[in-house]
Amino acid sequence: MTDRSERAYRAACELIPGGVNSPVRAMKAIGRDPIFIKKGLGAEIEDVDGNTYIDYVCSWGPLIAGHAHPEVVRSVNDAASAGTSFGAPTVAEVDLAAEIVERVPAAEMVRMVNSGTEAVMSSVRLARAVTGRDKVLKFAGAYHGHVDALLAEAGSGLATAAVPASPGVTEAQAAETAIVSWNSEEQVRGAVEEHGSDLAAIIAEPICANMGVVPPIKGFLELLRELSLSCGALLVFDEVITGFRVARGGAQEIYDVTPDLVVLGKVIGGGVPAAAYAGKREIMSELAPEGDVYQAGTLSGNPLAVAAGLATVNLLDEEAYRHLASYTDRLAGGMAEAALSAGQQVQIGSSTGLFTVFFHDRPVDSYKEASVCDLELFARFCRAMLDQGIYMPPSQFEAWFPSLAHGEEELERTLEAATHAFESLTR
Ligand code: PMP
Repeated sequence: MTDRSERAYRAACELIPGGVNSPVRAMKAIGRDPIFIKKGLGAEIEDVDGNTYIDYVCSWGPLIAGHAHPEVVRSVNDAASAGTSFGAPTVAEVDLAAEIVERVPAAEMVRMVNSGTEAVMSSVRLARAVTGRDKVLKFAGAYHGHVDALLAEAGSGLATAAVPASPGVTEAQAAETAIVSWNSEEQVRGAVEEHGSDLAAIIAEPICANMGVVPPIKGFLELLRELSLSCGALLVFDEVITGFRVARGGAQEIYDVTPDLVVLGKVIGGGVPAAAYAGKREIMSELAPEGDVYQAGTLSGNPLAVAAGLATVNLLDEEAYRHLASYTDRLAGGMAEAALSAGQQVQIGSSTGLFTVFFHDRPVDSYKEASVCDLELFARFCRAMLDQGIYMPPSQFEAWFPSLAHGEEELERTLEAATHAFESLTR
């Protein structure tokens, strides 16, 4: 029964383009209408018709503690009672900046903004300012928010909609971006040879998660570090998804490669809009009002977002990462097993707290491989999971986001549903 969702969607379509405020929510890639959510608690969400689901979208990453975690709710309530925004500094902002600097290797100074898109856009401006160059090198299938110049071959919702870039992006903006294949040493070397002296930044998701989860091959991040140093470009890691999730210090900690700038988002707002960019002191000091690279925001460092972010980050101790790692491993292993026993060919991409099942018969190490997955099979699998109360990302090109609230019961129910869903594909 989804009557109420259907009615809400019809009303929404009259008022909001496509009925949603962000495209992938529309569920077009799996050929069904969106489900309108009423509330969430822990690992579960309930829709407006009263159906419940184990949630693996978790707001696309911010809810690493699960829905309505009591500590997060209490912190946000306390902050709201004391005033929702001042447009003047607060002590809590400094506390959150200190947490970020302490955990994330590249972060010596931090600037808070409101969305991952804004953080990427600002970090690119900063990179251009300090290098005096214009061009940016990015990877096909990597998504860095809807920043004009970075929309080309951007994976994520664009891949889902099969739109290579977007109308409205000027030719001049697109021309500032060079694109190479993820995990191709040869292409990165070639691009740096061709554009090296014009490059302001090499920007990468250190573990790609917007073409599905595709980790770097051995030595790849090291190569990016080496090449960016040799050509004088800044290395920017977009850890909007991986930050605070795959490890305490993000992917840069796991792979032991420190970028010049890091972009953070999602988890640091704990489900309230917040993002940040951070990096070396001498680079960050170029920002106004210390330097003259301008960037500002009415609601930047907003007290509610900072309260939710601090409460969330404070839950992320060693035990939390052990739990996330073990849950993700067992989910990945169980899914592979369920697919195998149903005779389905799939590939699994995963890292702690991130996971994708690719409907593909070859290893997925690039966007080219990801984009030739069997999207029809994926759509049927996803619909079958939804029908059994498992709310997984409705796109082949997005990651599942398990949380600290996902435990034994959720794992068991998910794998049981997956077994049925895989079996239903052969019928
Ligand atoms: N970078 C990455 C790696 C992302 O995954 C996203 C969003 N999913 C963004 C940037 C943009 O963040 P936001 O949606 O908050 O603008």
